Amino acid sequence: MALRFSNTLTHQVEEFVPARDNTVRMYTCGPTVYSYAHIGNFRSFMFYDILRRWLRLRGLKLDHVMNITDVDDKIIRNAVAERKSLAEYTAIYEKAFLDDCEALRLERPERLVRATEHIPEMAKAIQQLADREYTYRSDGSIYYRIAKFPEYGKLSHSDFSGMRSGARVDVDEYEKADARDFVLWKAPKDGEPFWDTELGPGRPGWHIECSVMAIQYLGETLDIHAGGIDLVFPHHENEIAQSEALTGKPFARFWMHAEFLLVEGQKMSKSLGNFFTLRDILAQGHQPEAVRYLLASAPYRKALNFTFDGLKSAATAIERLRNYKLRLESGKFSGRDADALLARTAQARKEFDESLDDDLNTAQALASVFEYVRETNTLMDSGEFPVAAVEPALGLLGRFDSVFDVLQPNTKQGTLSSPEIEARITQRAQAKKAKDFAGADRIRQELLEQGIVLEDTKDGVRWKRK
Ligand code: AMP
Ligand code: ZN
Repeated sequence: MALRFSNTLTHQVEEFVPARDNTVRMYTCGPTVYSYAHIGNFRSFMFYDILRRWLRLRGLKLDHVMNITDVDDKIIRNAVAERKSLAEYTAIYEKAFLDDCEALRLERPERLVRATEHIPEMAKAIQQLADREYTYRSDGSIYYRIAKFPEYGKLSHSDFSGMRSGARVDVDEYEKADARDFVLWKAPKDGEPFWDTELGPGRPGWHIECSVMAIQYLGETLDIHAGGIDLVFPHHENEIAQSEALTGKPFARFWMHAEFLLVEGQKMSKSLGNFFTLRDILAQGHQPEAVRYLLASAPYRKALNFTFDGLKSAATAIERLRNYKLRLESGKFSGRDADALLARTAQARKEFDESLDDDLNTAQALASVFEYVRETNTLMDSGEFPVAAVEPALGLLGRFDSVFDVLQPNTKQGTLSSPEIEARITQRAQAKKAKDFAGADRIRQELLEQGIVLEDTKDGVRWKRK
């Protein structure tokens, strides 16, 4: 079966093939760097990461652009309160965001682009919209006249035809019932930063940056545009109105949206105060891989309830897989019937691939791996696991890990469990016996990096944590 994604625009699950030269031109809405991102935000960023990795494993090339919103109402309010320039203020949270992404092993998009570095391009686009009479001015600000774009509402599947024409909204975020002409360019206010452009002084509204930067780097029609589900309206609806008025072409072929991370049934959000940052969670001693696994384990189109029990189960699942991998790498196997197991391994791999092809069903993909691990652990226990199956089994784990990326322990912190350490020590002893002293030293060094010190005594090797 082919690769299929659920398209918010059509409400259908559709086969996905990029429009041109095997390259996926993809735009995802990035963070607003006004504060530390919470793990709800990271659910959406994790979805982008899984999407990227699976597209690549399916043989496609990526051209992925993500924006960094470094000017908006909240940023200006906070920067002014802290008496910092916009650039000083946003640099702190941009770095924090990138550090968190690294801890969560999120791949960097091919291009990360900042709104404030594209102000003249935005002014130019707004001028083009003005020339085509999609805009009007009021009190020095410029608004998009949505009555001029009859398709407004096609992404959120809403009928806005009864709306009052000429009613305006100045804030960047608002509810559906508030659908009104939205602001493209905001008149300067006292004490706020502004830019001098061909439109006069001011600053851009939130929505225009995504249209302008997506078209500039990726062309008039994207293969995929993605974001969190809360962006469908108004943000993505407004992006469509702006972009399609500018180009006359469909803005994106596929629109993909991640459901929320919830806490006790409610969206995790700054405004409700029910949020955890990654830093909060790591400070409690949890590993970033467990957060990664938890966020990746639920299919992106299902809401996911965050609990600390869920986080602990994620850590246990990782531990099981790491132990299994060590067992494969260091165990002695003498089973005779290789054919049946080779077929079983190929089947597990096929199930894994088909699950991800099916709109990134990560839960199903994990189930196929865990079922395989359970069955083959049993075969190892009873001495029926054949040595010929070791490489294919490691291959399956490798494929799993090129999407989920949790098997390699986090070298910054001592995460190895006692059985993992003992298994390493056994491997080192085997290496020494085979006169592979470089290999033995490498294992000692790896353990040292994890804070584990080995001591060779006449009774064997002892180890302790530094
Ligand atoms: P922001 O930094 O507020 O612009 O949000 C960044 C991304 O996080 C957007 O794509 C939002 O849709 C997404 N987001 C915010 N809250 C949640 C949540 N609780 N669960 C999943 N995604 C979220
Ligand atoms: Zn956007």
